[in-house]
Amino acid sequence: MLRVHDFMASSRANGPGRRAVLWVQGCSRRCPGCCNPATHSFQGGRTLEVGELCSRIEGLAATLEGLTVSGGEPLEQLPAVLALLERLRRGSRLSVILFTGWTFEQVASLPEAPTLLSCLDLLVAGPYDATRRRPGGLRGSSNQTLHFLTGRYTLGDVLEVPEAEILITPAGEVLCTGVDGSGALAGLTDRTGEGPPS
Ligand code: SF4
Repeated sequence: MLRVHDFMASSRANGPGRRAVLWVQGCSRRCPGCCNPATHSFQGGRTLEVGELCSRIEGLAATLEGLTVSGGEPLEQLPAVLALLERLRRGSRLSVILFTGWTFEQVASLPEAPTLLSCLDLLVAGPYDATRRRPGGLRGSSNQTLHFLTGRYTLGDVLEVPEAEILITPAGEVLCTGVDGSGALAGLTDRTGEGPPS
């Protein structure tokens, strides 16, 4: 089982191309200024069977470039995340990007590191540091590091990814994603003088 904060079937601001995005629920790091504090609690979100989630992503695969896993902290649910990524790696051509608040050295020290890294095309590593905020190129702050683990992507591909996207659902809900999603929402609010529709 994986505790999930949210799932988006199509995004352009969470990696190159059209991607599904999985935000896991739960993060014990609590970086000051984290743009997604609703993902911190390990009691929030909902639990999903890994197989169910895999089937949903595989059903979308023909329309997607890849999957991005973010959070929350994916590595705090490593067994379930690995089960998901290993199945997708075996059964699809989807690329995989994973965001973690752990440094690359911390990731590399895990016993599961070889398996995890073999499932990823790009790892974005390191905690968000509000004092070094610099949204762009999939990084929220300049201390975060990019690790291209296959030849699938280059720094140029990453620099072309929009910093944010704003989506309005059929129900009128405003959703902001990307490394500067909250900044984009604040800008939208500033321009209109109103908050997003509730
Ligand atoms: S590691 Fe990521 S999700 Fe966790 S508090 Fe830091 S920025 Fe937020």
